[in-house]
Amino acid sequence: MKDQNNAPAAYTDNADVVNFINGQVVVATGGRKQDVYNPSTGAVSRQVALSSSDDVSAVVAAAKAAAHAWADTPPIRRARVMNRFLQLMNENTDAMAAMITAEHGKVLTDAQGEVARGIDVIEFACGIPQLLKGDYTEQVSSGIDNWTMRQPLGVVAGITPFNFPCMVPCWMFPMAIATGNTFILKPSERDPSVAIFMAKLFKEAGLPDGVFNVIQGDKVVVDGLLEHPDVAAISFVGSTPIAQYIYERGAHFGKRVQALGGAKNHMIIMQDADIDRTVDALVGAAYGSAGERCMAISVAVLVGDVGKKIVPALIERTKTLKIKDGMHLDAEMGPVITKEALQRIENYIAIGVEQGADLLVDGRGYKVQGHDNGFYVGGTLFDNVTPEMRIYKEEIFGPVLVCVHVGDLGAAVDLVNRHEFGNGVSCFTSDGHTAREFARRIQVGMVGVNVPIPVPMSWHGFGGWKRSLFGDTHAYGEEGVRFYTKQKSIMQRWPENISKGNEFIMPTM
Ligand code: NAD
Repeated sequence: MKDQNNAPAAYTDNADVVNFINGQVVVATGGRKQDVYNPSTGAVSRQVALSSSDDVSAVVAAAKAAAHAWADTPPIRRARVMNRFLQLMNENTDAMAAMITAEHGKVLTDAQGEVARGIDVIEFACGIPQLLKGDYTEQVSSGIDNWTMRQPLGVVAGITPFNFPCMVPCWMFPMAIATGNTFILKPSERDPSVAIFMAKLFKEAGLPDGVFNVIQGDKVVVDGLLEHPDVAAISFVGSTPIAQYIYERGAHFGKRVQALGGAKNHMIIMQDADIDRTVDALVGAAYGSAGERCMAISVAVLVGDVGKKIVPALIERTKTLKIKDGMHLDAEMGPVITKEALQRIENYIAIGVEQGADLLVDGRGYKVQGHDNGFYVGGTLFDNVTPEMRIYKEEIFGPVLVCVHVGDLGAAVDLVNRHEFGNGVSCFTSDGHTAREFARRIQVGMVGVNVPIPVPMSWHGFGGWKRSLFGDTHAYGEEGVRFYTKQKSIMQRWPENISKGNEFIMPTM
């Protein structure tokens, strides 16, 4: 349903958010609940029932029971179910986007983009028969052939953050399920509804019960999944301290783990950059989704005297951002996720001032008319920030952009390479040699040249370096196929009933 502005209707369901286990909606046991807010109004819209360790046992048992039959299902049939799911996701994009705006606060158009980028991975997963083709060598020795194939791991789980409640789960479960695993999703407890919605769509698409399950909850569920002997692998996306915890704990229990963590992404702006385009790109990348993107640009590295042209334009644009409820189609930025996040961000702004940075635009105390209790922070801009300051070193995860000045490209690259995070980076320039040197020397996983947020397409894989990723495979793409499968090598001989007797030496080919 759309309103008079042609926007989808707001999501207003106030029933408790529950689990989806073995194809059924199931209420979590244990009785613990957590409030889910509409960040724009600051009001509680519904509650999510937090699962207990008994619920973890139930969900793993359901996923395990479904694992053998699903692994045995021919890839082309798995792909057909995925294709039907793809169609249903496309038909329901607006409904999901409204759900995301209601619980996360990001503007509707951005939420639609998030769903579209999630759908990209589903589309890629539809090609699974081709992706699972093995390697074959005929006649490695007389009468012997050798081939390798990849088989599913069994039951695998995903633990996801609040900032992309649709897209980040889609980095995981379509790849895991297409490759023949059964999947348990533990979404963020802050915006849990869209996960259940997707699980229902997948069932409607013909997915057998128990193949895709959603369990709501917090640390109790996460620890239960980490410790459970029947969970073979964990994919995690969230903050760095928790990513490291998941990686270490998962390894302790013998699991395969990929854990994507936090970020502090730089944009290097060269003196020869196109100023208007660069400012447009920077403002969108810094303040889009209120800076709550792991690929948001939070540091502008101004090379030489380019700051003289960039900073005045940034001040103007930061002050005139259209900040309002995300359901307004012209909104550029909505609220942040919680009151605690708002306080954390405002506290960082105070620290920046205390440590001597120049606060050019102050977003503290921002009010949106009619939304007095909403979790709003205005766009915030600092200049003359140095690498020792906490607002440079730490991930703020809000609409705060800091500017650092350096002399040349070499100093800019050194600065970025010294930072603990290495998720995304970009360089704006009109010089090909500069671009090439930058891309080769930078120690970051995802690199943009005149592209502010270089999120790779679904067939290229997503992942940072340094403390932005623990583990060695990136999410989705062929890396995703590798993560969710294990290689088996088969060597086969069919002799013509001629026995040479026992062979005691190491065979050579
Ligand atoms: P978070 O780490 O607080 O939570 C992520 C998940 O971990 C949630 O499902 C949560 O329930 C669970 N969790 C939280 N605390 C836990 C604990 N003590 N023990 C076990 N599980 C716990 O992250 P968030 O605030 O939801 O998301 C924002 C963070 O995610 C930012 O740091 C952002 O950079 C990062 N992020 C990274 C990427 C990436 O690709 N690298 C993508 C999106 C978000």
